[in-house]
Amino acid sequence: SKAKLFDQNTDVKTSFKDVAGLEGAKEEIQEIVDFLKTPEKYTALGGKIPKGALLVGPPGTGKTLLAKAVAGEAKVPFFSLSGSDFVEMFVGVGASRVRDLFKQAKEKSPSIIFIDEIDAIGRARGKSNFSGSNDERENTLNQLLTEMDGFGTNTNVIVIAATNRADVLDKALMRAGRFDRQIYVDLPDVRERKEIFEVHLRPIKKVAEELDIEFLAKQTPGFSGADIANVCNEAALIAARKGNKAVGKQDFLDAVDRIVGGLEKKNKIIT
Ligand code: ATP
Repeated sequence: SKAKLFDQNTDVKTSFKDVAGLEGAKEEIQEIVDFLKTPEKYTALGGKIPKGALLVGPPGTGKTLLAKAVAGEAKVPFFSLSGSDFVEMFVGVGASRVRDLFKQAKEKSPSIIFIDEIDAIGRARGKSNFSGSNDERENTLNQLLTEMDGFGTNTNVIVIAATNRADVLDKALMRAGRFDRQIYVDLPDVRERKEIFEVHLRPIKKVAEELDIEFLAKQTPGFSGADIANVCNEAALIAARKGNKAVGKQDFLDAVDRIVGGLEKKNKIIT
């Protein structure tokens, strides 16, 4: 299959309603929605609109979802790519691909560029990494910095990047005028897990009436939003396999066990 540089979605349906919990992060990122919708209001007194925001937090906590919701709320095109794909698939052409991406985003502005796993490109320069040549990665990173610095004040393209390794990032990325806003996206607490369950129970055709969502939230400490989405889907499959008409408590508990098993395996490989 042909490697794709980036995805482009000009009709994003995701909104803040799809993002459960994360009240603080949503409040902070609302500012970016406003910048995209009414830039004139903000630049009236000579202020400059920020060019970038960095979402920092563990895997599966909704960083991509939140960035997409910004595009949906502001009704602007969403250009997205993953840093790791970038380094692995575009050896020798990373910098020119970055140029292409920014060119297209500018043509469609106001718009959002979302870079997932920015650490794959944005690791501190001069430190080795394991994928691809380091020169190549540095060229790509330099091009990204150049593009962000080159934005005029009224370009109205905002770059949102995500990472779970803010500590390894090149400090140059965080300088004023680049990713100078950082937003933390943490694992959900019990109340937030309940809200995430509610979101992901929506697509399930029939949930047993007596299902206690608070109980499920209490049974899933340490689960991310992605893990909870997974639990809901697994529970629906488990119930269907049994030929049940509704998804019930035991199906959810079995699904939780299965996900916990998967998480334990993953951790074993790492340590
Ligand atoms: P990664 O670091 O692995 O890229 P991420 O933080 O970008 O992860 P997402 O890709 O946004 O996480 O989350 C994966 C899926 O998990 C989402 O599409 C959604 O279904 C679910 N999810 C995660 N967080 C939330 C949340 N806060 N509310 C509702 N659903 C969530």
